[in-house]
Amino acid sequence: MNRPDLPMTGACRCGHTRIRIVAAPFMTAACHCSGCQKMSASAYSLTAMIAPDAMEVIEGDTVIGGLKTPGQDHHFCPHCFSWMFTRIQMGGNSFLNLRPTMLDDASWFEPFIETMTAECLPWATTPARHSYQGFPDMSEFPALMAGFAAAQV
Ligand SMILES: [Zn+2]
Ligand SMILES: [Zn+2]
Repeated sequence: MNRPDLPMTGACRCGHTRIRIVAAPFMTAACHCSGCQKMSASAYSLTAMIAPDAMEVIEGDTVIGGLKTPGQDHHFCPHCFSWMFTRIQMGGNSFLNLRPTMLDDASWFEPFIETMTAECLPWATTPARHSYQGFPDMSEFPALMAGFAAAQV
């Protein structure tokens, strides 16, 4: 698996909203859940998990979409409605899940884990090293992050 060059920049489909990321992801994932299938209009969503303060919107702005569940903000471009990133507040922790295909260069991206395979389309496969029918338990994350770091070249 490749490491991205920093900083990374990206934009929505129409270019109204631009982002800049100054830290590499600590985990990458594909999610097969039916919610991600709808939001991504595809077989699964892609996520690069990044420190929440390592990304800024440098041009344009975002609006909240999806189910608008408190603590789970799905950010979309207000013009083209690309699903750009999700900010999650959970138990006092903040998470930033970037959709890596927003990046100007997403060629480095590869999902290390895949989640919610219980809902996957029958033909949908990914190169993920670890598959979960649901989501990994939070207690598994330190070992997964160490495995992700070790897999990068
Ligand atoms: Zn846009
Ligand atoms: Zn999902």
